[in-house]
Amino acid sequence: MVVSAKPALQAASVEFDVKLIRKLDHAGPRYTSYPTADRFTEAFGYRDYLQAVAGLRTRGNRKPLSLYLHIPFCDTVCYYCACNKIVTKNRDKAAIYLSYLKREIEMQGQLFVGMNHVEQLHLGGGTPTYLSDAQMADLMAQLRRWFQFAADDVGEYSIEIDPRTVSGARVRRLREQGFNRISLGVQDFDPDVQQAVNRIQPEDETVKIIDAARDAHFRSVSIDLIYGLPKQNVITMAQTLTKVIKASPDRIAIYNYAHLPHLFKPQRRIAEQDLPGSEVKLDMLSLCIGRLTDAGYVYIGMDHFARPGDDLAVAQRQGRLHRNFQGYSTHAESDLVSCGVSAISAVAATYSQNVKTLEAYYDHLDNNQLPVVRGIKLNMDDALRRVIIQTLMCNFELSVPSIELAYPVTFAEYFAPEMEKLQALTQDGLLTIDADWISVTLKGRLLIRNICMVFDRYLHATPDRVRYSKTI
Ligand code: SF4
Repeated sequence: MVVSAKPALQAASVEFDVKLIRKLDHAGPRYTSYPTADRFTEAFGYRDYLQAVAGLRTRGNRKPLSLYLHIPFCDTVCYYCACNKIVTKNRDKAAIYLSYLKREIEMQGQLFVGMNHVEQLHLGGGTPTYLSDAQMADLMAQLRRWFQFAADDVGEYSIEIDPRTVSGARVRRLREQGFNRISLGVQDFDPDVQQAVNRIQPEDETVKIIDAARDAHFRSVSIDLIYGLPKQNVITMAQTLTKVIKASPDRIAIYNYAHLPHLFKPQRRIAEQDLPGSEVKLDMLSLCIGRLTDAGYVYIGMDHFARPGDDLAVAQRQGRLHRNFQGYSTHAESDLVSCGVSAISAVAATYSQNVKTLEAYYDHLDNNQLPVVRGIKLNMDDALRRVIIQTLMCNFELSVPSIELAYPVTFAEYFAPEMEKLQALTQDGLLTIDADWISVTLKGRLLIRNICMVFDRYLHATPDRVRYSKTI
């Protein structure tokens, strides 16, 4: 992250400009990485990953690590789902997976001996709580065997839960097992919407789980919502928002549902005539932003809101916000080590991804090989653009002199074509540019992906955007 000398943003906020959004609502990446995962290739493999870790060791790396574990199983399928998951009721599958996952953790632990201090852990899926209480305890014990975890008040240890699969007692156990942040999938409280997406989740059950998380002293409770689902409209959204605000989570993410049935099979079960039109979607988004900011939430960026006292909002005010595969984070500059099918690691100047099927995952580990099968090694240009995109995404401003100090480039010359494109966005009122700063305006914040896309060299080389969701 480029250090900014300008006073940090006071209270990040946002302005909804419907004309601008209509004009610039193209498809584009979410930039949880740069280059984006669709640019990874099979030319990068297991040995390249080992080299990247060896490089860290040679440089005497002392930075704390971030860990991600992918648990791919779910009980039932939600029709909107675009995740890499396996829907099964056969719990034996989870037991087999866990034994291999533990093996991968051990192999990664051996690689990182002496530089295995961890300050961030995230369990995602699928449904991490598909694992039983005992299996979770076993998994956490294995992690602690191979990695050194920072104290609870320093580390950020989070888990995604499906409120339909846990009890209050299970939530308390998760806190005892070391998690201090919890994220609940809600999507929408309306029963018709829930029916239309095959995710029946009574409101009182969800609220009970939120209360249990507070009682168990989780440091942060986060809720995920989606706008654009079948049967949703402004009225159902208003009702859901009233309930969410009453439940008062620390963080709220509101994702745009991208209907891409040609890419994601479960979405073919959604009746297209039930989907809200783009005008209704914009009205819903406007409503969400208005209601949440009125309720005191701070706009963090992309689809995220947080209470002003939450670590994410504090980190943003202090210019310490970071972005990785799990979205926004307060732990900048950590190497990310990921385990499990399809998981993506970011170590030194590389990204590497594991195989996507269980069979191939087990085969690799049976052969004593880490299951890395694709990735990318960043060159200087990639690393420079990654810093620019991350800084804009997190801080909504970029100090040109700090880029020139950190990299051997004259910004105006190196990025001459990009500056021309940015000038056009300036005319639209998305940003301002002076000699030293590129600053995103309040109405430009919602369209931050459009601004970042200007710096994406790969997007311009092959502008094939059908695989991306719309930016709003
Ligand atoms: S949305 Fe979550 S719980 Fe639903 S099928 Fe996808 S991964 Fe599983």
